[in-house]
Amino acid sequence: MKEITCKLLVIGAGPGGYVCAIRAGQLGVDTVIVEMAKPGGTCLNIGCIPSKAIIHAADDFAKTVAMAAGKNAMGIKADNPAIDLAKTMAWKDGITGRLTLGVAGLLKKAGVKIVVGRAKFRDGKTVAVETETGEQVIRAENIVITTGSAPVELPMLPFGGSTSPSGAKVISSTGALSLTEVPARLAVVGAGYIGLELGLAFAKLGAKVTIVEALDRILPLYDTQLTQPVARRLAALGVEVLLGTKVKGMSSNGEALLAETGSGEERRIAADRILVTVGRKPVTEGWGREELELDMDGRFLRVDEQCRTSMRGIYAVGDVTGEPMLAHRAMAQGEMVAEIVSGKRRSWDKRAIPAVCFTDPEIVSVGMSPDEARAAGREIKIGQFPFSANGRAMTLSAEEGFVRVVARADNHLVLGIQAVGAGISELSAAFSLAIEMGARLEDIAGTIHAHPTQSEAFAEAALKALGHALHI
Ligand code: FAD
Ligand code: NAD
Repeated sequence: MKEITCKLLVIGAGPGGYVCAIRAGQLGVDTVIVEMAKPGGTCLNIGCIPSKAIIHAADDFAKTVAMAAGKNAMGIKADNPAIDLAKTMAWKDGITGRLTLGVAGLLKKAGVKIVVGRAKFRDGKTVAVETETGEQVIRAENIVITTGSAPVELPMLPFGGSTSPSGAKVISSTGALSLTEVPARLAVVGAGYIGLELGLAFAKLGAKVTIVEALDRILPLYDTQLTQPVARRLAALGVEVLLGTKVKGMSSNGEALLAETGSGEERRIAADRILVTVGRKPVTEGWGREELELDMDGRFLRVDEQCRTSMRGIYAVGDVTGEPMLAHRAMAQGEMVAEIVSGKRRSWDKRAIPAVCFTDPEIVSVGMSPDEARAAGREIKIGQFPFSANGRAMTLSAEEGFVRVVARADNHLVLGIQAVGAGISELSAAFSLAIEMGARLEDIAGTIHAHPTQSEAFAEAALKALGHALHI
């Protein structure tokens, strides 16, 4: 096969890689992207998008079940709701299919050449790709490694699990997002992002869910004030959460997960499926790293503020470069690298990377929490406004939660904004914009927020920090 030469070669077409390639193509950079699976990477195929589809379907189903049980204050009645999970999954696959086709179309529109197959470095300028029709060698001036991440496997609970017919199967998020029947009993190991997002969804779909978490709290990334409403919802859905508990492995008949609580009590959790969500690891093997001399930052590839690795002409973006392993960080890095390769002067200058957990209720955090601001030696003002005092939240039966604004005490510069509440992931844009543009409390309080919306709670939280909230 004839060798390809190009200015930019991108390895991996997840959010980091495909955004980098599209932007480079738009800027007239001669670009090739290699992907061994489907365009869109983890995010579009087995991550962000399919999980949010299932979470939405589970929410709708749970609301209908509550209506059928007469637990609906609005007077809506329903009878015998049922869910055909195979159909739900087909709907979800339709969404991911449309999006991945869309990404391939956008790459083509930007003039990017797509090569399908596994890429492997031969040296710092040459990559060989195993394609269906043989080996394709690509030489490039610049190469971006964006090989993403994969689920962490626990040695005592390997994916696949029991071989006995009645035994529990051990699955990752990918397995959970392709189940065609709701497991009667689901054990979840890890109460982080995926464990809680999917654990809550499957509880709503009717599974008896037990979550085992090694630490003494759920969602350790967020402060407990933010996670309390989620803990209450878990309890209301009958989800048992075992905190400070270590998993030991499977029972000898393969029908239960064995765990030990903090007080030394042995727990046997009967399960049909065991979903292991104890984090993700960067994909740093399988693409010829051994042929290169790349500095590492722990288990990640070390990059500077321009996403340059320790080798000239080799960049890395996305999950392979470290925390937070989020799609929007990968995309922002990818866009920046494309501009740098095209000759623009760019470096990482973002003030904050928003974090959103699509639990019930949802959690958003942008910038510093009160504890982080204090730890950084700041004197701060905090304003917090509850959704129980917000008219729109009442009309949505979504009064749980609040918006909290953290600002410098001296000049009122906003340092962080957090919120927990139904559907508030959409407020993350306003929060990020405020921090990125260097807003002060007065800017937020002085902006007209449309009525009735949940976003009024944002303006009220700023007013509260200034000492004159109007609606509380
Ligand atoms: P990936 O998306 O992992 O893409 C890497 C690509 O590289 C893959 O397509 C892979 O096939 C390809 N590749 C690897 N090696 C090679 C090779 N040698 N040759 C060719 N191709 C190769 N993030 C959010 O921001 N919001 C969310 O709501 C969210 N939800 C998630 C839910 C789940 C269940 C999971 C698992 C993750 C979720 N994430 C979410 C995280 C998000 O998916 C990742 O942060 C994001 O996909 C990282 O993008 P990336 O481009 O770095 O890598
Ligand atoms: P996570 O890091 O969010 O949570 C892992 C949890 O497992 C932690 O609470 C940890 O204490 C616990 N744990 C670790 N080892 C354990 C053990 N042996 N027994 C019991 N508990 C154990 O990881 P995740 O949920 O697998 O998600 C991976 C990553 O994917 C996230 O960190 C995030 O970057 C990304 N993600 C983001 C979103 C989003 O943005 N909404 C959603 C899903 C995933």
